[in-house]
Amino acid sequence: MNENSKIDNEAEEFCCSPEWGEKISAHIDNELGAAEALKVEEHIAICPKCREFAKKLRRLKGVTDKMRLADLPDVRWRRYWMGIYNRIERGVGWVFLSIGFIVLLIAGGYYIFNDFFADPEVPWIIKTGVGAFGVGVIILLISVIREAYFRFCTDRYKEVDI
Ligand SMILES: [Zn+2]
Repeated sequence: MNENSKIDNEAEEFCCSPEWGEKISAHIDNELGAAEALKVEEHIAICPKCREFAKKLRRLKGVTDKMRLADLPDVRWRRYWMGIYNRIERGVGWVFLSIGFIVLLIAGGYYIFNDFFADPEVPWIIKTGVGAFGVGVIILLISVIREAYFRFCTDRYKEVDI
């Protein structure tokens, strides 16, 4: 028995109807137009019998289904590494941001203290206002950073469920 009659027999045995069997066979041979091919794919998706048949047929006809399967883990790995890369990138971003911020805060504080608070020309009421404002900003900043830090920690140990 030749290959084609073998496939026809399998179609009768495995497909929900001979019509679908023929269409699936044509689809795997890339003989269908885009619209027809889509219909077949949709049917394969909902019909387990035809899905099995399509799988068998692909194997029989040596269609490079294997290649597609081999591609899949590669894609997954790439996504996995992209995820890790993004996390590292963000982590490094935060470190630089923090360093820059702390440096600016210290330098800014130093210049403000030298030029502003040590200046006898500036009235004490302005100094008090600016001082209170500065303290307020620092307190709010610490509060925000602490909250972000705790959220980071809870996210990290979410699986532990404390
Ligand atoms: Zn079917």
